[in-house]
Amino acid sequence: MFFSGSESPAKRGQKVIGEVYYFEENPMLDCNQFVINDRKTGELALFDSGNGISLKSLFEGMKTLGLNYQNITKVYLTHEHVDHVLGLYPLMNILKNNPPELHAYGETAKILREGDESKIFPGNLGISPKMFGLEINPLAINELDINEPIQIGSEISFQVYYTPGHSLGSISYYEPNKKILIPGDLVFTGGSFGRYDFPGGSLGALIESIKFVNELDVKYLLPGHMGISDNGNQQIDYSYKMVQSLKNYF
Ligand SMILES: [Zn+2]
Repeated sequence: MFFSGSESPAKRGQKVIGEVYYFEENPMLDCNQFVINDRKTGELALFDSGNGISLKSLFEGMKTLGLNYQNITKVYLTHEHVDHVLGLYPLMNILKNNPPELHAYGETAKILREGDESKIFPGNLGISPKMFGLEINPLAINELDINEPIQIGSEISFQVYYTPGHSLGSISYYEPNKKILIPGDLVFTGGSFGRYDFPGGSLGALIESIKFVNELDVKYLLPGHMGISDNGNQQIDYSYKMVQSLKNYF
């Protein structure tokens, strides 16, 4: 069902650093995705699942870089929104014989466990799961602990930070040695930042969260939309200045 019809062009992918790969979002309500390869075991960790429709093109993109989607053993989510989580449903179906562990934090974990459609499709976007050809079912989710780093292979260890403002379940993944930040929709390149007008969003919280990640040492900024950057701190600082200027209007 998901893969029928027209062909999906491969998601454009590239190596960021070491075994960290970036796959660019498709044009329609999709998100950037990141794959980390544990070279020793061959297991793959996937960050965010995209909108589901884009899953085939992710797999194609992975193939061009020598990565096999059947080796995805863990999925880490940045937050609960449709363009980041909808791909979980077809993914779990495709990998049902060897299902990956799904990891999320707080509100995101709760929403996915309950299959709460109204929170996955926020506010007034005017879209529904049917338009994506799928049904929202409760999922088994592993709760992330902000005190427990995520080890991927021998070289990568992500710290999880709770960074609300775009949504209640928003987190950022930070790798201090490689200086990688995966902030979901908190902060983007080019001075942009996440929307705060969805239910659970807050401009004040967004500003605080951007301020927090701005104090981390970030080289590789790998956000949920738009481009990535290897000049992370400068990009985050630019967004921080932009979002602060908004504060003065309200
Ligand atoms: Zn979002």
